[in-house]
Amino acid sequence: MTPADLAFDRDHIWHPYTSMSQPLPVYPVVAAQETSLKLADGRELVDGMSSWWAAIHGYNHPRLNRAMTAQIEQMSHVMFGGITHPSAVALCRKLVEMTPQGLECVFLADSGSVAVEVSMKMALQYWQARGERRQRFLTLRNGYHGDTFAAMSVCDPQNSMHSLYQGYLPSHLFAAAPACGFDDEWQARDVDDFERLIRLHAGELAAVILEPIVQGAGGMRFYHPRYLEKVRELCDRHNVLLIADEIATGFGRTGKLFACEHAGISPDILCVGKALTGGTMTLSATLTTREVANTISNGEAGCFMHGPTFMGNPLACAVATESLAMLQEGHWQQQVATIEAQLKAALLPLQEMPEVAHARVLGTIGVIETHRPVNMAALQAFFVERGVWIRPFGKLIYLMPPYIIQADALAQLTGAIAAALVRPELFLSA
Ligand SMILES: *Cc1c(COP(=O)(O)O)cnc(C)c1O
Repeated sequence: MTPADLAFDRDHIWHPYTSMSQPLPVYPVVAAQETSLKLADGRELVDGMSSWWAAIHGYNHPRLNRAMTAQIEQMSHVMFGGITHPSAVALCRKLVEMTPQGLECVFLADSGSVAVEVSMKMALQYWQARGERRQRFLTLRNGYHGDTFAAMSVCDPQNSMHSLYQGYLPSHLFAAAPACGFDDEWQARDVDDFERLIRLHAGELAAVILEPIVQGAGGMRFYHPRYLEKVRELCDRHNVLLIADEIATGFGRTGKLFACEHAGISPDILCVGKALTGGTMTLSATLTTREVANTISNGEAGCFMHGPTFMGNPLACAVATESLAMLQEGHWQQQVATIEAQLKAALLPLQEMPEVAHARVLGTIGVIETHRPVNMAALQAFFVERGVWIRPFGKLIYLMPPYIIQADALAQLTGAIAAALVRPELFLSA
């Protein structure tokens, strides 16, 4: 990439959550292989992000590439209205087979946020079909569910800055975030606030929506499986649907294929995305039970009212099917366990450092929460200088590497974090 390319980028292209007038630097990547990102100047960075939880098998994987190439030679895309194709059928068959019990009907969409929109619309249409006026959602503080409007309305009100859209977002209910960590001793009162809200509002609630076990972009918090178990119980008791947003946690990231398995529960509606295609293409799915699907279908509209242009894109479905086939071979379990052990050994002792508020690890997710916010531009440059790609935000420096990462590369990632924590100039004043 030439300096002119970078100048054009700076002047004309928006990047995620950045200013157009005062953009932070971006790093030109020209290729990616296994766990390495290659910069335009030839430097290689160890990838600690899996491109936002997605590239679980690493980059440029020959099997995923072959699946895509083979599909391209048949057709890259064809509409899904009135048409079906082998890639969609193969993928949905695997999704029904692999996801928690009872989820039998699959709606394919293009991104995680859209999967969340679809899940919320399903809940609304379900109650409408049953002749009940239920239009509110109950969720947890510190949650993150995407950037479209319905998704945003159930994100943490502070983190996602609801104040910016005041008057435009519907007002939903927010229970206190779970305080009991994944490995902590279970405290039954952790779920009290949630219980109070569901009891008080059950009659107006379409659904509870939450991220099972790991709250991702809203704070990288891991909570106790008993909390989730209790939520399922309370949803059943009060006759409220449960939507599990596993867009970040699905496909092995937390040490189980789906985070719901930590609590042994099934949701009524499940959202998956991110790692679904092994990080190659954008695709998401919303699964639900036969009961929810049939109720919607027998309601006033006679159908579910949603249908993206690129629904069931054959290319995305083909590569997703191959990625799921690789997961079904089972190597991920050993890989994730090995990464988890190494992350625990390297990151948990950093808890003792003055800059660190909390260190935690679950599955392949390693988190260092700092007392002070990071200086993004400075810390990013520091990491690139040390040959690693780690993208911190706020007071969170975290890792979620591809499952295929080797011990030495992982050590380079954790070593870079440890080195940053003794450099006060990489943090902003509290
Ligand atoms: C990333 C994410 C989303 C949104 O997915 P996009 O593909 O970015 O729209 C929704 N929910 C959770 C839990 C996520 O991590």
